[in-house]
Amino acid sequence: MPERVLQMTDPLHDYLVDVAVREHPVLSALRDETAAMPMGIMQISPDQGQFMAMLVRLTGARRILEVGTFTGYSSLSMALALPDDGTIHACDVSDEYTAVARRHWAEAGIAHKITLTLAPATETLRGFLDDGMAGSFDLMFIDADKANYDAYYEHGLELVRAGGVILVDNVLWGGSVIDHADQDDDTAAIRALNDKLKHDERVDVTMLSIGDGLTLAHKRAS
Ligand code: CA
Repeated sequence: MPERVLQMTDPLHDYLVDVAVREHPVLSALRDETAAMPMGIMQISPDQGQFMAMLVRLTGARRILEVGTFTGYSSLSMALALPDDGTIHACDVSDEYTAVARRHWAEAGIAHKITLTLAPATETLRGFLDDGMAGSFDLMFIDADKANYDAYYEHGLELVRAGGVILVDNVLWGGSVIDHADQDDDTAAIRALNDKLKHDERVDVTMLSIGDGLTLAHKRAS
C-alpha cells in the first residue's frame, strides 16, 4: 500500500531536483556560494524557487513584494520569470547578505527589475501604505523574522490587490509546529499565523509541503 502522504527522503528529493529543475546558471552559482555561508541553510530549495517562478508566470504578476531577501535566490528566481518591465520591491536588513544578492542580480541581467530597501520591513511596508501603494502588488513573498510574520501578513494584505497572492515561507518550521514542547517565539508565531489563516475569511488558502512548508493566501475581493 502506498503511504497516504509520500515521505520525502533526501535521495528522492535529489531525484526530483535532478529530473525536474531547470536552474539558471546564475541561480546555480548563487546556490553554491550561499551554501558555503554560515546561514546557508536559510536558502530556499531549487524546486521551490522554480515553483515560485512558475507562479509568477501563471498569475501574470508584474509587481512583487518580497520581505526577507537574504542572498537573493527567491528574488532572482522570480525576477527571471517577470516581464522586462516587471518589478520586485525587496526588503531586508542585512547589507552583507544582500550584497551577494545584488552581485548575482547584476550578473543575471535582471538588477533593473529589483529595488532593495535595507530597513526593518514593518517600517518599509508602512511607508508603502503611507505612499498610497495599497492594492498595488500582485504577489508577495514573506520569508523573514518569524516573530513579525503576522505584521508582515497584515500589511501585505493591504498592499496586495484583490486576486493577488501572499506566499508565506517556513510554515512547517522543520516539523516544530507539531512539537508542543517547543514554545520558542518563532515557532509560536508561525503556529499562530497558521491557525489564523485557516479561518481568515479575507483569503483562500492552501499549504504546500514544498521546502519547509509554503502557504499560498489568495486575497478575496472585499
Ligand atoms: Ca525561508
